[in-house]
Amino acid sequence: MRKKEVIIVGTGLGGLSAALRLSSLGFKVKMVEKYHQAGGRLNLFVQDGFSFDLGPTFFSMSYEFDELVKTTGIEYPFEFVELDPLFTVNIDGNPRNFTIYKDLDKLTREFMDMEPNFREKMEKHLKKTGNLYHDTEKIIIHRNFYSFFDYVMQLTKVPLKHGPLLFKTMWKELCQSFESKEARMIFSLVGFFLGATPFDTPAVFSLLNYIELKHNGYHNVKGGMYKIIEGLYKVLRERGVDFYFNTEIVDTKKANGKIEYLIDQEGKTWKGDYYIVNADAAWFRGAILKRPRFSDKKLDKKKWTMAPLTIFLGINGKLDRLQYHNYFLGNNFNQYARGVFKNKVSFQKPYYYVNVPSKNNLDYAPDGKESLFILCPSPDLRFKPDWSNREQIAQNIIDDLSERTGYDLNKMIESRTVLSPEHWGKMFNLYKGSGLGLAHDMNQIGWFRPKNKDEKFKNVYYTGASTIPGTGLPMAVISSKLTVERLMKDDQDFQKKQSAVQ
Ligand SMILES: Cc1cc2nc3c(=O)[nH]c(=O)nc-3n(C[C@H](O)[C@H](O)[C@H](O)COP(=O)(O)OP(=O)(O)OC[C@H]3O[C@@H](n4cnc5c(N)ncnc54)[C@H](O)[C@@H]3O)c2cc1C
Repeated sequence: MRKKEVIIVGTGLGGLSAALRLSSLGFKVKMVEKYHQAGGRLNLFVQDGFSFDLGPTFFSMSYEFDELVKTTGIEYPFEFVELDPLFTVNIDGNPRNFTIYKDLDKLTREFMDMEPNFREKMEKHLKKTGNLYHDTEKIIIHRNFYSFFDYVMQLTKVPLKHGPLLFKTMWKELCQSFESKEARMIFSLVGFFLGATPFDTPAVFSLLNYIELKHNGYHNVKGGMYKIIEGLYKVLRERGVDFYFNTEIVDTKKANGKIEYLIDQEGKTWKGDYYIVNADAAWFRGAILKRPRFSDKKLDKKKWTMAPLTIFLGINGKLDRLQYHNYFLGNNFNQYARGVFKNKVSFQKPYYYVNVPSKNNLDYAPDGKESLFILCPSPDLRFKPDWSNREQIAQNIIDDLSERTGYDLNKMIESRTVLSPEHWGKMFNLYKGSGLGLAHDMNQIGWFRPKNKDEKFKNVYYTGASTIPGTGLPMAVISSKLTVERLMKDDQDFQKKQSAVQ
């Protein structure tokens, strides 16, 4: 019997994971990608002899990768390294650095002089958020929703005691859990990991504190984050999956409620039995399928996550006073966080995240040198369309970092590249440069997130962080499981084979 063919648009982690699952189930898979190499946002950037993880620098929920590897029967194609400590936080004007550990004894020592009964408060916070995670993991996070009724039915299974978390913000929840401004600020940083702020992120996402501080921690990959992609790519090539880079899908031919073929920028056509879109699910429906519900006008009204301003520095010298992950915050958290994504704060003294990938991966920088990555969460192109001042903002950050670490970075910089939200938007078709796609408000998650099965075309599916369950690397892996489950449910041949076996 002819193998059914699936064309996957995009080689992000969601696309590659879906390809792996489909190749295990006997499909022929072809992947088309606009960028010059696989990985999407989980990519590698090499400049002047220095290497950097382009976007993601860590992940949690490593067990989602275990599931992918086990289900598809492959050897683990990369090796995790659990991070300890998790990260450090420097608050402007505060002479000490906070080091955040998974070990509760060590963590308590960091906060005991400013947060009375820290240990009890943290244990209570982790118990509450841990219960929420385990009570929703199977019924919401790992689940396809086949109708609105189905979604509501699942929500009714969430124990009532979690109800209050649905109706308040993460910030409110943290204010109820901790008294000191330092603890509140630091444990609300998970809101920024979702690309938003604790003031507009629902309290349910405080469960990330449980996942990261207790359940699973943070992980990096031996040899750098891109080893995930290299590992998956190698297995897929061995399994006969074909890759076509520098190939951007710009149009489609539709017939009889299906997509007949995709059309790339050169006019070449791509025909399959099924199509899985790993490009942003809302953007693709609007820009490529021309759906009025996803027009720019409609998408502009939605809530999008932060846009990245990223700085990649090759440093002549070692940076021993920095850890692997470091956050540099100001002392006007409330005002800054509320205004930053609407372009209502000055970029004279921005908040930013610093990663030194060469600390864990010695090959990332020549001997005696360091690769330094800085991410400044910024407004998307709706709120700040002009990024001609990106070098000046980068310079403000470099000067601030020099002052706060005591390194004269300006004298140590050998290589400097600044990528603005405009660059990010163009590189991967991220809507208005939003780095993590649609935000995770209650009306943009679950049933309300762009669906993983197309509304009109019977043979079109979506996978990755822009559809369910949500953003981040483990979520992209879960997403591929849900998408493939959905496709298999629809596939007639698979249904026949299943019934023949039974
Ligand atoms: C700066 C930054 C830092 C981050 N840090 C972390 C982190 O530390 N930990 C974490 O867990 N997550 C992090 N994330 C989020 C994480 O990167 C994403 O959630 C995840 O990589 C998304 O994977 P994906 O497969 O859904 O999409 P993508 O990685 O975006 O892949 C989609 C692919 O589709 C391609 N494509 C788009 N349109 C077309 C088209 N028309 N034709 C052909 N190809 C197309 C794109 O080029 C891209 O390669 C970060 C994101 C950013 C931007």
